Amino acid sequence: MARDGVEVGGTSAFAQLVPAGEVESAASNEYRQLIAEAYKKGLLKSSEGAQVVRLRSIAKKLIEQSPVWNERAKQWSWEVNLIESPQVNAFCMPGGKIAVYTGLIDKLNLTEDELAMVVGHEIAHALREHARQRMGKGMATEGVTRLGGAVIAGIFGIDPRITDFVAKQGASLLSLKFSREDETEADLVGMELAARAGFDPRAGVSLWKKMSAENAQSPPQWMSTHPSSTNRVKDIELNLNKVMPLFEKAQHAERVEKYNLEPKN
Ligand SMILES: [Zn+2]
Repeated sequence: MARDGVEVGGTSAFAQLVPAGEVESAASNEYRQLIAEAYKKGLLKSSEGAQVVRLRSIAKKLIEQSPVWNERAKQWSWEVNLIESPQVNAFCMPGGKIAVYTGLIDKLNLTEDELAMVVGHEIAHALREHARQRMGKGMATEGVTRLGGAVIAGIFGIDPRITDFVAKQGASLLSLKFSREDETEADLVGMELAARAGFDPRAGVSLWKKMSAENAQSPPQWMSTHPSSTNRVKDIELNLNKVMPLFEKAQHAERVEKYNLEPKN
């Protein structure tokens, strides 16, 4: 089926081993703990602050585009928080739980479009269920599988061993390492989300240049979990032509709305 935008492969069959809902609720628990901890230490940025308002307005536009990539995203209770920390880091956990560290925005002096690229990348990991795939793979390795296929699972519910496994893994969702393929996919899907939301996808290139410059001084957290290479910028550049029309369409729609160029009916 032809569609506008980037082309990535299907999702890994390993994901099917773990119910999406279980992964999302484990993520929700870990996120709640992290936010509570940040709040206790006075590191959670206030919802009224300009930085949080800006971040949430960018995230909102990206989230609106997310069902294109994952239907479940419509039901997620999305959360977007900013945490005071020198770390150059950001993440979006399964189920749409987003956190950005102030170090990312401040040290790299990110423009709105660049910040949208980072948040889009992180959202893409959640939409493409990379954590769920990692967990499924881990579970397969440990030899935990469904007891008796879909029928028995339907009657007796989920194998408790799966629930156990997810709960254990859930406590360390943030330390999951994504593969090189996952990262490329997140770059491309994130760039498409950003373009659809009206952010300039060319910001992907300037973002990575800033990341590399920062890396030369001290490797930021985001870089250690997101291995960088010149291939990365090359992949982004190669795919720009696929998303530029989406960006232009979104820009046009924005202008129409702003200047009321066309009659409403
Ligand atoms: Zn990533």
